[in-house]
Amino acid sequence: MSETFKAILVSRDADKKQSVAVTDLTDADLMEGDVTVAVEATTVNYKDGLAITGKAPVVRRWPLVPGIDFAGTVISSSNPDWRKGDKVILNGWGVGETHFGAYAARARVNGDWLVPLPKGMSPHDAMAVGTAGYTAMLSVMALERHGILPDRGPVVVTGAAGGVGSVAISILSSLGYHVVASTGRNAESPYLINLGAAEVISRDELNQPAKPLAKERWAGGVDSVGSHTLANVLSMTSYGGAIAACGLAGGMDLPASVAPFILRGVSLLGIDSVMAPKAVRLEAWRRIGTDLDLKKLANLSTAIGFDGIIDAARDIVDGKIRGRVVVDM
Ligand code: NDP
Repeated sequence: MSETFKAILVSRDADKKQSVAVTDLTDADLMEGDVTVAVEATTVNYKDGLAITGKAPVVRRWPLVPGIDFAGTVISSSNPDWRKGDKVILNGWGVGETHFGAYAARARVNGDWLVPLPKGMSPHDAMAVGTAGYTAMLSVMALERHGILPDRGPVVVTGAAGGVGSVAISILSSLGYHVVASTGRNAESPYLINLGAAEVISRDELNQPAKPLAKERWAGGVDSVGSHTLANVLSMTSYGGAIAACGLAGGMDLPASVAPFILRGVSLLGIDSVMAPKAVRLEAWRRIGTDLDLKKLANLSTAIGFDGIIDAARDIVDGKIRGRVVVDM
């Protein structure tokens, strides 16, 4: 009989009621792909929380092994780019949504989806960054492309104590930006200042219905919250500034006016990590290797084991997770 390994499986019954369980799989159960990877580390992202709890329709193939990102070692490959023993990272591409994902000891995927683990980084480090941190880097790169450099003025980071927020603060402060961190958890102020935030403001200042324009407070920002928060952030962005919008932790709507765009030349930069082209991913991971302090990364991450994934998934959708959760498999 072929070797079995542990996996988390989300399923649904004839009434579309979703359930989650730990099960045993074999290689034969894995989906198609030309590279099989031993998953050494993974993480719990907000999207994984949505997939496991069923709070939003992330899972689009039943049953499914969730988990949108992993780092590990190639076990076998028929893809010319990868050989047995290579250290790799995967983020997105529908893994953990339509293709069996990271919450299993093994994953079989399309080799074109993989990027090499940066030198000097362990699988654990890479997953402390994870999709949230890679998305934070994509957001910073978008701001830079728009000319929002440290000398343009402060930048705001919303959802500051979350995964995207924590990594965004670390990167931006390392690059010399004056970072304004917005959080609903005021008790996390020391944590945010330790990551490099210059100021911490309360989420309450940004989550009420926005005026078309408000006092200019920042030149740019990274928003992982959406809804009224993004509308307020835009209304407070100074002339010619830009906001990278990457998340919806507060809601998917955007109750804003066009005033910041047409009266202040503000830009809204959309950030997607899932289908980002390979060249962009390679650049983001290269930048993570150079611009993210590994000591800060250690401070913003908590390690759990495979058995802690389901509880952590519930906690992240309840907004109870600080920074990043790394799963050492
Ligand atoms: P986390 O849960 O770690 O962080 C989200 C943070 O948002 C929370 O920690 C909290 O921060 C804040 N928050 C939560 N609920 C609310 C609310 N109701 N109103 C205002 N603020 C709230 O999630 P991640 O950092 O992993 O992901 C953040 C968002 O980014 C998610 O929506 C996720 O889906 C999205 N995302 C998008 C990607 C893309 O490709 N575009 C890739 C990765 C993530 P605090 O307590 O400090 O206020």
